[in-house]
Amino acid sequence: MSTFQAPKGTYDLLPPVSATYLAVREAIAAPLRSSGYGYVETPGFENVELFARGVGESTDIVSKEMYAFETKGGDRLALRPEGTASVLRAALEASLHKAGNLPVKLWYSGSYYRYERPQKGRYRHFSQVGAEAIGAEDPALDAELIILADQAYRSLGLRNFRILLNSLGDRECRPVYREALQGFLRGLDLDEDTRRRIEINPLRVLDDKRKDVQAQLVGAPLLRDHLCEACKAYHQEVRELLTAAGVAFEDDERLVRGLDYYTRTTFEFVHDGLGAQSAVGGGGRYDGLSEMIGGPALPSVGWALGVDRTVLALEAEGVTLDVPAATDVFAVAVGEDAKRRLFGLVTQLRKAGVATDMAYGGKSMKAGMKAANRSGARYALVAGERDLADGVVQLKDMETGEQEPVALDAVVTTLRDRTA
Ligand code: ATP
Ligand code: MG
Repeated sequence: MSTFQAPKGTYDLLPPVSATYLAVREAIAAPLRSSGYGYVETPGFENVELFARGVGESTDIVSKEMYAFETKGGDRLALRPEGTASVLRAALEASLHKAGNLPVKLWYSGSYYRYERPQKGRYRHFSQVGAEAIGAEDPALDAELIILADQAYRSLGLRNFRILLNSLGDRECRPVYREALQGFLRGLDLDEDTRRRIEINPLRVLDDKRKDVQAQLVGAPLLRDHLCEACKAYHQEVRELLTAAGVAFEDDERLVRGLDYYTRTTFEFVHDGLGAQSAVGGGGRYDGLSEMIGGPALPSVGWALGVDRTVLALEAEGVTLDVPAATDVFAVAVGEDAKRRLFGLVTQLRKAGVATDMAYGGKSMKAGMKAANRSGARYALVAGERDLADGVVQLKDMETGEQEPVALDAVVTTLRDRTA
């Protein structure tokens, strides 16, 4: 194996494509930032116990996909497979829920790790932007998060995505449904693994992607018919708020999602151009999670959007983001003295807020201009010894090809004005 090969199921983000990833993260974060969500950053690993309890032993994420390991000091850790448990852990540890207003609204962005079978849109290292609203039970909060995700995708120019919506019930009605579902599932012709799942986490069987399993699930009892009055009313309110906001959604009573901790509202964003890995993001309410990891009752709701799949969705729709050139000005010097003077000028330009780069490595004029071209900068700043003796540099507009001398002491203001 070559040393220059990223590990299986991973890939590097490199220019120019990496700029798109930054822009996607930024676009997802923007509506959150302006809606009262504060930035939170947690470690890339946690005690394995947090995920075992918070995500659930019976989930694929914990039982199959987690990178768990023991440190030299004997700590049992895991690379984070998702963000919610960590964010809640951090909020509880800092007692943010006691500090004042509830809900505590947080957003995050980072790397996540799952030992999965790599394929397009499914990697072992991937990136999410997520949001959590902790400590309030209010359908408007569930609606807010869905609306903000919708706004983020639309601001990126995505159109062919759909929002699937369901309610998973609560502590009162879900157990009754669970039993009814188990009764139905036990009568089906299923493999050993799936039979075991019926006993541990029967709702997840509904999520089975295999055609023969799905065929048998026709006629399975629906949670919709088992929701208690409070859950029904809550769900209806979420639906009405979304409709009033002009956000279209589809009711999907089969939608259960992979994590154990979801209650009531659950949703997924799917994109129709992605094949099997169609979910670009998902989330829901997790009223029981805080207690599951040893905290007080803190009803909460959140989502995580996958950055990798969002980029694939943009590609599938043929959307190219308007990512501006990295620099506006590129300086090319001919000769040592000119280089020194121009380097000083470049530093001044940067301080003045003009994005500037220059040719390095003792390039010839020709090679320097080639580099200027490649940089995508609108302006080239060219100077040789003669120019400097005259007290000027040559300012070339790379778009029109026009070139004019500019007095040294006017360069910063001229370029600041032109690039503003
Ligand atoms: P899937 O059903 O495709 O496995 P999931 O339900 O496991 O998705 P979540 O845990 O809800 O996914 O994570 C939220 C989002 O993170 C997903 O919608 C997806 O965009 C992204 N994501 C999850 N796992 C991966 C992965 N292995 N590679 C790339 N993106 C991923
Ligand atoms: Mg998964």
